[in-house]
Amino acid sequence: ASHANRRAHEHTLLFLRLMTAQPLKDFSRLCVHTITTKGWELEEAVDRYGEAGVSGITVWRQWLEGRNPAEAGQRIRAAGIEVVSLCRGGFYPGLEEKSREESVEDNKRAIEDAAALGAPLVVLVCGAVPGQSLVESRKQITDGIASTLPLAESLGVKLAIEPLHPMYADDRSAINTLGTANEICDELNHPLVGIAFDVYHLWWDPDLEGQTQRAADANRLFAYHVCDWMTPTSDLLNDRGLMGEGCIDLRGIRGMVEGAGFDGMIEVEVFSNRWWEKPTAEFLEAIQQAYLQHT
Ligand code: ZN
Repeated sequence: ASHANRRAHEHTLLFLRLMTAQPLKDFSRLCVHTITTKGWELEEAVDRYGEAGVSGITVWRQWLEGRNPAEAGQRIRAAGIEVVSLCRGGFYPGLEEKSREESVEDNKRAIEDAAALGAPLVVLVCGAVPGQSLVESRKQITDGIASTLPLAESLGVKLAIEPLHPMYADDRSAINTLGTANEICDELNHPLVGIAFDVYHLWWDPDLEGQTQRAADANRLFAYHVCDWMTPTSDLLNDRGLMGEGCIDLRGIRGMVEGAGFDGMIEVEVFSNRWWEKPTAEFLEAIQQAYLQHT
């Protein structure tokens, strides 16, 4: 009987070990933005992500400079990594027509590069100009996206509007809430136009749940970006926290987004001078820990 008991006990231990160890190693939905691991060129990032078991990569356009996007895409996939998106297009508004036209051309290049890279999605930081009203900027954003849609359609590339925190409304984006992003998506009314949901920009919004459901119901919740909000924030651009370092209810928001139907990659996008001072390998390890513990 004692032998049977011991066997049963061993089985219980093995079971517990599997139950506790298994989820700790699950990086099947972890995507990292190349800008997060800024210390690494594309090739090194791909090798290191592959070794670490990171499943997805969002490539920032600077990382394609001097590279053939199709070859870059092949290399990423050969490492077993999924290309989640190309970051970023946008910046449509301009005081003069010429600059708006240049922006459309640049966005077309981004769409072509995404297609060559094998990225299904271009993230849009839509832009704003201090010299004109947000209403006018939003109109120019809507027009700008509309004029790239035929190309996006022919290449099958999705476009994701990323609403930015209102503190960026002066010169980075005139789209500052999920509600406004939903309105512009409604206006454009196209299956390739959707939203990139970034907790950094949206966590404070009392209407988040309703607008998330609205986006999910319209099949436009295309991407989910995570980091954290530091208190105090010393630099709005480059003092983002690693998940768990700040005050965002990451588990609550993820539950809400997944409850609405999102099942895509969890993309870690951290701009942090504090972390960038450390060795990049150390940062990636911290990202993986934070991903498991806090997202
Ligand atoms: Zn983002």
